[in-house]
Amino acid sequence: MTIWNPWHGCRRISPGCANCYVYRRDESIGKDASVVSKTRSYGLPLQKDRSGAFRIRPESGTVFTCMTSDFFLPQADDWRKGVWDIIRQRKDLSFHIITKRISRFEECIPDDWGSGWDNVTVTATCEDQQRTDERLPILLQLPIKHRQMISEPMLEEIDAEKYLSTGLIEHVTCGGESGSSARVCDYRWVRELRRQCVRCGVPFTFKQTGARFIKDGRLYRIDRSIQMQQAVRSGCSYVPGENSGAGISYSLPRWEELSARLAASKFRSSFKLSEADRQYVLEKSPDVIRAHAADFVRRRLSAESPDKDGRQTPMKGHPVFTAQHAAACCCRGCLEKWHGIPTGKELTPQEQEYIVDVIMRWITEQLREM
Ligand code: SF4
Repeated sequence: MTIWNPWHGCRRISPGCANCYVYRRDESIGKDASVVSKTRSYGLPLQKDRSGAFRIRPESGTVFTCMTSDFFLPQADDWRKGVWDIIRQRKDLSFHIITKRISRFEECIPDDWGSGWDNVTVTATCEDQQRTDERLPILLQLPIKHRQMISEPMLEEIDAEKYLSTGLIEHVTCGGESGSSARVCDYRWVRELRRQCVRCGVPFTFKQTGARFIKDGRLYRIDRSIQMQQAVRSGCSYVPGENSGAGISYSLPRWEELSARLAASKFRSSFKLSEADRQYVLEKSPDVIRAHAADFVRRRLSAESPDKDGRQTPMKGHPVFTAQHAAACCCRGCLEKWHGIPTGKELTPQEQEYIVDVIMRWITEQLREM
């Protein structure tokens, strides 16, 4: 990975900028980050070494461009054309532009941009729901070959599923905020965004926890030196087809705790066994119903990305279906939210057994009450 900053300095534009690291770093050396200036690295990708070879070689990895500014900043309009010329000449390099000003994209691209350049990835920053709903629709309709989304600092829970389901966003990254005034990042928001990525088959990277991280309702202060390491250790990143959730550690809830939470949910507690369901269970015997439950769980829930996840369990037609909705065992999203079992991984035999136990426990309790 290479960083190329053709200009330096920026202007705040949205809530994600409040504790901008460029401002923080410049302030620490008595510099004003709102002054935007061209840097000495402006022509870096064209610089050559003594042997005549380019200093930046393709094997150096992606060239992250404008990391101490915003590529589409109006104050840099006079310098951008030269940067496009450089990017055009270095087709052997991959340039990655991360921006909060995707709305300026069309007025800032060169005449020969066409349907986009293969060597340019554009990432829209979406720190909250409002910015997601403003920026992703623009990102999606622009002529860009490679699109990504980043939520860093992630400031609240974000629903991006309708944008991710288009299949046009290649990667999602998220992370918390660093620094002494950092705002909190809740692991619940990270997991929720991950779930959306798993459902849409989009790779997801949890980059760093940030300095103030909430997990299971508890606030942790995380030292800068281990924020990335802690995110990696969470195992939360997701690569489709790699059983990525297998590394996430979690503990299954006890029935008493789960049952109390289910009872407190208006939706979950609205499910009851019908008289026909009851008759069916008594006729077939609990062992047969258990075998049906095990079969449904294996076929409809156990894969890393089950077919039609979220819609695979009918609302009625079998007592096990009713139990699955009542006990939040109906899809992988519910299994993660209610039972902690991560999405993006195959269910182990033990997890399948646990789910079947929960289903059968709910059915047994229903029969007692009838
Ligand atoms: S757009 Fe980026 S670089 Fe510019 S002020 Fe906001 S956070 Fe800082």
